[in-house]
Amino acid sequence: MSEPHNKEELILEGIAASPGVAHGRAVVYLQKQLDVPCFDINEDQIDAELERFDKAILETRAEIAGVRDKIAQSLGEGEAGIFDAHLLVLEDNALLEEVSAELKTSMKNIEFCYNNVAQRYISFFRSMEDEYLRERVADIGDVSRRLLHNLIGMQKVNLGELAAESIVVSEDISPSDAADLDRNKLLGFVTDCGGKTSHSVIMARSLRIPAVVGMHDATKKILSGDHILVDGHEGIIVINPTEDRLFKYGKLATERKKRDDTFNSFISEPAQTLDGVSISLMANVEGAQEMEQAKAMHAEGVGLFRTEGIFLRHHGYPPESVQYEEYRAVVEASGEHPVIIRTLDVGGDKTIGDENVKDDSSFMGFRAIRFCLGNEAIFKTQLRAILRSSAHGDVKIMYPMISGIMELRMANKVFDAVKQELRDEGQAFDEAIEVGAMVEVPSAAVIIDQLAAETDFLSIGTNDLIQYLIAVDRLNDQVTHLYDPAHPAVLRTLKAIIDGGKAANTPVSICGEIAGDPTFAGLLLGMGADSLSLTSSLLPEVKYFIRHINHAEAEALVAEVIQLSDSAEIVKKLEAFRQKALGKFA
Ligand code: PEP
Ligand code: MG
Repeated sequence: MSEPHNKEELILEGIAASPGVAHGRAVVYLQKQLDVPCFDINEDQIDAELERFDKAILETRAEIAGVRDKIAQSLGEGEAGIFDAHLLVLEDNALLEEVSAELKTSMKNIEFCYNNVAQRYISFFRSMEDEYLRERVADIGDVSRRLLHNLIGMQKVNLGELAAESIVVSEDISPSDAADLDRNKLLGFVTDCGGKTSHSVIMARSLRIPAVVGMHDATKKILSGDHILVDGHEGIIVINPTEDRLFKYGKLATERKKRDDTFNSFISEPAQTLDGVSISLMANVEGAQEMEQAKAMHAEGVGLFRTEGIFLRHHGYPPESVQYEEYRAVVEASGEHPVIIRTLDVGGDKTIGDENVKDDSSFMGFRAIRFCLGNEAIFKTQLRAILRSSAHGDVKIMYPMISGIMELRMANKVFDAVKQELRDEGQAFDEAIEVGAMVEVPSAAVIIDQLAAETDFLSIGTNDLIQYLIAVDRLNDQVTHLYDPAHPAVLRTLKAIIDGGKAANTPVSICGEIAGDPTFAGLLLGMGADSLSLTSSLLPEVKYFIRHINHAEAEALVAEVIQLSDSAEIVKKLEAFRQKALGKFA
């Protein structure tokens, strides 16, 4: 690790994304940018440069072989095949000869020459008609990055093997990076990009790991090895915090603990308002490993099982048996409470990276149910596994990103075919399994009467609904100020969806991040939501809040704010309501 570059205390501001305070050593994880140095060399240096190159190739070879063996052991030979392709790219004779020729003609350093040649190969393959050849671009990119890291002598970071008490500082942390993170060693994370509802932030909140995002240039100001303090409440990073600062944070932590202890003391009580209206509080989970916490927080089942976590951890599309075991474990852990399993929502910031199946990282593209309907074999495998898990408890199934009735019907048609398959095979499943849809695309909200008539339940995904309604990318820190859950259009849409559900007698839940935020929970309750599904770590505070409000007052609050046109004024009213309920804990 490098020595701290600056012993002076330095404070940086970003977006508070996951609450809590962490103090540890920074581990800077750079994936995208790699500054390749460029300098002149003379005749006498040619041999030394080529020797350096040979050494870096050997190091890279050993590294790739090591990863290959690890993957072969954990996930099987099939999954490890990609690294054989990487070894072939690394030792490609034509490419290596081109690099040494470039060195002799340009008289520039070896990493500069290697990078030039690799970039030429990448452009060449990218322009090919043949899809297989076009896909080699990613292999060359991966291998050249590894080799350049070795040539430049940069510290490599393996997110799966962090040192104790690490705080990861990165341009961005994708959900597949997050799946690799060594969660026992990770104290917090800081990113240059990202918004409050990126999936890695959602993961941080569920693990109670403090996070600050949208820092723009944290990776340029923080060096690996720096002492940093992450304040996920205020969205502040302190580099080299003084003793004084650490003492103040220590005192704040004691106060926050008292507040949390108070919230926790109500955790086994019902989520009921002062005037006797109950609401069901359920958990959002990504896998069986989160069920212990969900149960400890007295969640009344799972309102959103984001199944992508299984695929991301697997780095591909796991077979039916692997999925079934995970679904069953969650269902069994949930006991008599329901588990709503959402079918695969791949795409957007959750790309699986399987070389055989094309991912789409656009939020408006080939995502979620669109991907599943376009990859029927993958969809059917998942539906089989979910249906089989329904033999072990109260399972419901939910489709993400439904944008119209035909999509719902198409998904149901596949679902019916899979049910018939299982019947023919004599496999047990719940014949009365309920089917619901996420309401997260504005078109679904507009046709809510039709959608409610053809579903057993609805769940509002506000994370996406807000981004699509306001046309504001939920990951883009430059437009975070426009990502506004209190926008009058959002409030009206939420109310219309809940009213639509009520008219059809179809229960409506909210499973986006605002369900875990007391500023909005009162509003959702006042609108008549049947349940809230949230990260279980936030459940104690939301329950405490609900137990300290009157439902009639929440309804009056809705009637008042729904008339307002200024979202700042709306937030003020919602905040005042929250503060009144939480009192000194607000
Ligand atoms: C949502 O969009 O609100 C939601 C719950 O789904 P996700 O965050 O996984 O897109
Ligand atoms: Mg969503």
